[in-house]
Amino acid sequence: MPFKALGLHPHLVQATREMGYTEPTPIQAEAIPHVLAGRDLIATAQTGTGKTAAFLLPILHQLMQKPHGTSQALIVTPTRELAQQIDDVCSGLAYHTGLRVGLIVGGTAMGPQEKALRAGVELLVATPGRLLDHFERGKLMLSQVNILVIDEADRMLDMGFIPDVERICKLIPFTRQTLFYSATMPPEIQRLTEQFLHNPVRVEVSRPATAATTIEQNIVKVPANDWAKREALRRLIREAEPTLNNALIFCNRKRDVDVVAKSLAKHGFNVAPLHGDLDQSLRTKTLDSFRAGELKILVASDVAARGLDIPVVSHVFNFDVPFHADDYVHRIGRTGRAGRVGYAYMLATPRDEKQVDAIERLTKTTIPRQTMENLEVREDRKPRRDADRSRGRNDRNRKDKFRPDKFHDHVAPMEPAPAIAEAVAPAVHETAVVHAPEPAVARSEHRPEKKHEPRREQHRPPQKKRDPEHRASHDRKHDATPVKPEKHQLPAFLFRPVPLPKKADAEG
Ligand code: AMP
Repeated sequence: MPFKALGLHPHLVQATREMGYTEPTPIQAEAIPHVLAGRDLIATAQTGTGKTAAFLLPILHQLMQKPHGTSQALIVTPTRELAQQIDDVCSGLAYHTGLRVGLIVGGTAMGPQEKALRAGVELLVATPGRLLDHFERGKLMLSQVNILVIDEADRMLDMGFIPDVERICKLIPFTRQTLFYSATMPPEIQRLTEQFLHNPVRVEVSRPATAATTIEQNIVKVPANDWAKREALRRLIREAEPTLNNALIFCNRKRDVDVVAKSLAKHGFNVAPLHGDLDQSLRTKTLDSFRAGELKILVASDVAARGLDIPVVSHVFNFDVPFHADDYVHRIGRTGRAGRVGYAYMLATPRDEKQVDAIERLTKTTIPRQTMENLEVREDRKPRRDADRSRGRNDRNRKDKFRPDKFHDHVAPMEPAPAIAEAVAPAVHETAVVHAPEPAVARSEHRPEKKHEPRREQHRPPQKKRDPEHRASHDRKHDATPVKPEKHQLPAFLFRPVPLPKKADAEG
């Protein structure tokens, strides 16, 4: 079926031709007619299915029929990269329409975005946080929006954006058309669709837990030791060299993304890290060079890599077994696309057995295992505590978030009193040298009245426990006999003379 048969505006059909789309993908063929008919939509579709054009084409078609100048369509995505990608596809598809697109994402200056909003754009592509920032500053009107797309809804859930999404849904007129795209449909997303969509059509292009049959999967059994895992990864990459065009390596934690990338670079591999803590311009540059084929290996976290359209990846290496089984499907879905053969390896330690079982249950496959022999087990210089191993992505909520490095940042600017500074000289030196350029004692001479001392070094005598004999509750509990008060402890009125009535009055 050609795009023309979907009832799209000729300018859009022309754009699809120019972009090399010969015919609609299944999600496009199924979803576009419903969206053109004004229906709400729940689409279960993964990246790589052509879902972006599936919502962009009918939206652009509708916007072309309306007066220009106000933001009438809003696409909300979880990551900046995904927003950028949608913006790129949109620029291509909207090329002949005269419609303008505004990209509203964090990590870049507000000024140019405000300018674009003032000038007027018909379609907004945004991440939730920055969108709400503009709204709260009064730079953005959402009352004119009548088409809302929530893209990668399940990833929004993973990233803790659902309250923001709910807020955005409430800010946009009730009469809007809403399109919900998600690779999976966990109960929380189901609940959202029930709350915010009206009589939606459901479209599903592939079952959420299936991996392409062209992917050759392998589990490589390794010891539970990071050093050994890195060595195993290097060996796997070297062995794969003849068929390895480019590779994505997934780690569960941002910290490990950096460590693995650094280690591979040290061993001469063409590699770069990608995770949410890196500067936005660096992330964009890294992705561009990976897409251009200049960078061969990208080490990424799930969140950073989710939704990115990287057309041909020959190999996926799971440095860690993912915490969630459905992440495995997303990760290996980066290879074996469009009928090409892909290779997916996963390093698994004996501790990962449960997670591996969950993956096999979800994908309904038994993944072949191989054991990597003769791996040296060494401890890293800073061994990881066992408690760290169980950490998930929601580390921010943990009670132990005040780690020592943060603590140092807090105490550095405080000036210790001379006497105390002397007493704790080595520890003060450690913090002052790194963070405070002036010697702590010299500064305290200028302001002698401010006798702060680093919290950590404050010498407090151990607190005396309150004598339980003094506690009223203790008295009550143990039925203590009250002590008779002295005369001077009693109120004065008790000792004032009381005038008695005269005898005659009393008798009369
Ligand atoms: P998406 O699932 O939106 O991330 O799209 C994945 C890739 O498929 C992108 O590189 C699109 O340019 C491409 N694509 C989308 N629609 C079509 C189509 N009808 N024919 C060929 N390629 C397409």
